[in-house]
Amino acid sequence: MAPRILEALSRPTVGHLDPQFLAIMDDVNRRLRTLFGTENRLTFAVSGTGSAAQEASLANVLEPGDTAIIGVNGVFGTRLADMARRMGAEVVEVTAPWGRIVDPDDVIAAHRRTPEARVVALVHAETSTGVHQPLAEVGAHLAGTDTLFVVDAVTSLGGMPVDVDAHHIDVCYSGAQKCIGVPPGVSPITFSERAVTRIRNRRRPCQSWYLDAALLADYVGEGATRKYHHTAPINMMYALHEGLVLIEEEGLEARFRRHREAGDALQRALLERGWELFAQDGYRLPQLTAAILPGGREEGPLRRALLEEHGIEVGGGLGPGAGKLWRIGLMGAGATLENVERLLEAVDALLA
Ligand SMILES: *Cc1c(COP(=O)(O)O)cnc(C)c1O
Repeated sequence: MAPRILEALSRPTVGHLDPQFLAIMDDVNRRLRTLFGTENRLTFAVSGTGSAAQEASLANVLEPGDTAIIGVNGVFGTRLADMARRMGAEVVEVTAPWGRIVDPDDVIAAHRRTPEARVVALVHAETSTGVHQPLAEVGAHLAGTDTLFVVDAVTSLGGMPVDVDAHHIDVCYSGAQKCIGVPPGVSPITFSERAVTRIRNRRRPCQSWYLDAALLADYVGEGATRKYHHTAPINMMYALHEGLVLIEEEGLEARFRRHREAGDALQRALLERGWELFAQDGYRLPQLTAAILPGGREEGPLRRALLEEHGIEVGGGLGPGAGKLWRIGLMGAGATLENVERLLEAVDALLA
């Protein structure tokens, strides 16, 4: 974490309806619009981690019996499908092997077969595999239909462009602790006017009271009545605000470039050392590198040694990658060439 974010967390806690706090919330919402690339009025931070925002994104626009088309090529697409089923939706999965993108043509074909689908959902940055999912074609296809486009941008927002309006995304959510570089606990979300209309015309209220955007709008929205709904995590909101100020100071282009350069350098260096990249060529995330260890080495013991001997923590493989790959995050303040150097020195020492 950048020191300024830790400092922001320690500022005096005020009340959830304190005018100073409401002003910070308004400014957070305004800055989130810039980061998401949207004009959406209903843009705010959910009180909860990325999974809460993920749940909010579906719970608000799905009703029991609705059809949802969901791209599944890793942990987080699987979770979207699980959540939608729990909400009583009929789920049509469009699958791809882990490590490959969900083919936009497959998604569009599924939508042509089930045009009554209320939602199409895709994961922009699949953290379990390192895959960068293209969004433009599916967004353009859905724009002229009654189907809403839901996008998981938990690991992309703040590290690469998301372009909510340009891609005709109706509901987009993120988290704090990935590329925004803030401790976990508050999660950006945005709803298009189309999504808000859907929410207003629901046949029955959202099954989650806590995450009901219609209720939340009275608390979080500028010019709203600012009614108590729940007690916002005040100090977490200070931290998110500071994180967004840091992003503005750095500039979006510079920040995206920093993530790209660090990720590219790491991926090039690992390939040179005989590692294999798990994600499909041409669709690799710079901020999350999933790499298979050389020579069939078992990853667990080396990952433990990396933490214990070098103080560097990386993730292990999930699903088909379990036991054989590392997932290396270069996100937020961590996305630097210095960190890449440190990791490579540690890797060379461990594998020597
Ligand atoms: C981390 C993550 C989530 C869940 O966020 P939590 O903060 O762990 O609840 C959802 N989707 C993706 C793509 C993620 O990387």
